[in-house]
Parts: sequence; structure tokens; C-alpha cells
Amino acid sequence: MPDATPNPDLRFKRVVLKLSGESLADSGGRGISSKEMSDIARQIHQAHSSGCEIAIVVGGGNILRGAQFSGSNALVQEATAHYMGMLATVINSLAMQDALETFGLRTRVMSAVPMDKIAENFIRRRALHHLSKGRVIILAAGIGNPFVTTDTAAAQRALEIDADVVLKATRVDGVYSDDPEKNPHAVLYDRLTYRDVTEKQLRVMDATAIALCQEHNTPILVFNFKKEGSIVQAVNGQSVGTWIGAEK
Ligand code: UDP
Repeated sequence: MPDATPNPDLRFKRVVLKLSGESLADSGGRGISSKEMSDIARQIHQAHSSGCEIAIVVGGGNILRGAQFSGSNALVQEATAHYMGMLATVINSLAMQDALETFGLRTRVMSAVPMDKIAENFIRRRALHHLSKGRVIILAAGIGNPFVTTDTAAAQRALEIDADVVLKATRVDGVYSDDPEKNPHAVLYDRLTYRDVTEKQLRVMDATAIALCQEHNTPILVFNFKKEGSIVQAVNGQSVGTWIGAEK
């Protein structure tokens, strides 16, 4: 397969796509659903066909989140649980790799925690090399440190690989003033500043991720990946979801 052909009309040349672990499970469920994986992989394949370089950061919440073990009564120490959460992201990343390859994409899983039997180590320059060769990279194990989430990893990796945007895939249409599943009057925002997100305490990504994006002026697009074609639209910069940047 040839290298990805640069498309001068592309809005974003390089993106980080953050997928939560739950996006790989059936709605409200846990574990990994072949149907959900296949739907996402198909959309990523379409998005990649437009010539965009794609780095995926996968979460692990469909299996385990370290914060579940916080509190002094927990048998497993919280730090240990965060490492378990990182391993959950590796499980998801391997599944995502095979799902993407069934659509003919060339991929690499790169792990922040060395695991050389199953994934490459994350090395920034190698990651950039893979992207330039048209490979989709799947970044596993977050940033390799406990007490943070894969949202922070998505922001961190976006800075490292100089991505144009962090695409945060969710099950709702963007960022709302309140939880739209509980409050029917919740308002969907079209555009927000980083400052809006922190001042209004909107649940977008964790605070460290927002701070990193704000400090380095990396925009975030929050969108509903369940809507057919939305990943392609997001990659092409079409009007979808909520845009978060320095200015409205
Ligand atoms: N995690 C971590 N360091 C990282 C990334 C993740 O310790 O750099 C752990 C953390 O416990 C987190 C879990 O892995 O809760 C799974 O990731 P996350 O909660 O971000 O998954 P998501 O909510 O996106 O499915």
C-alpha cells in the first residue's frame, strides 16, 4: 500500500483521536464489543482515506479505572490500580489494532510501558515516522505514569507529535451546560474557550488535559462518534460537535 498522499485541502493534517474504553463496549456495557469496534474502525478507515495522519489514544474504562480503588479501605493500592488501568488500555489497543487491520489499514501499537512482545515502545520520532508512512498509530498505556487518565495522555501526545487538534469522541453531541441525559434543558455549546471550560466546570476532559491544551493552544473538538460519518466530518473540520480553543 502506498504512503498516505498529502491532501492540500485537508483542514487537519494530523490528529489525535481520543476514544474512551467505553466506546468499545456496547452502550452502558463493559468489555469489548465486536460490533462497536468494527463501526469505529470503519469510520477511522474512511477518515484516514482523506489523507489525514491519525494517532489514536484509547482509554480503559470499559475494563478498569484506577480511581475505582481510591480510599484507604481498598485492598489494591490506588497506584497499583492505575497501572492495572494502563494495562486495560493496552488490551483495548490490541483489539483496536486488529479491528483497523481488517479494513486494510496499516497500524502500530506503541506503548508508554515497555511490552516488547506485543507493542513497540512509544518513541516520538518513531511515532512521527509511522505517521509519515501512512500508518495509524495506537498509543497504549497512557503516558505510563499513574494518577492521570488517557485524556491527559491524548493532550500530551498531541503536543509531542504536533497534532493540529485533539478529537475527543463521546456518546453525546458535544459539550452541554449540564448532563443532557439528566437535564432536558441542557444547552449544547457550539464553541467554547478553555477558560469557559474551567470557569463553568464543564465536564470535557480532565483538568490537566485542558491545561496542557490551553498552554499550547491545541484545540479540542468534542463530538458524537456514534453518528455515522462523524469521525470523517471531525477530521475534515466540518461543523460537528463543540470546538474548544483560545477564542470563540
Ligand atoms: N491510566 C494511568 N495513566 C495514564 C493513563 C491511564 O494511570 O497515563 C490509568 C488510570 O487509572 C485510568 C485508566 O488507566 O483511569 C484507564 O484510562 P481512562 O480512565 O482514561 O479510560 P477512559 O475513561 O478513557 O475509558
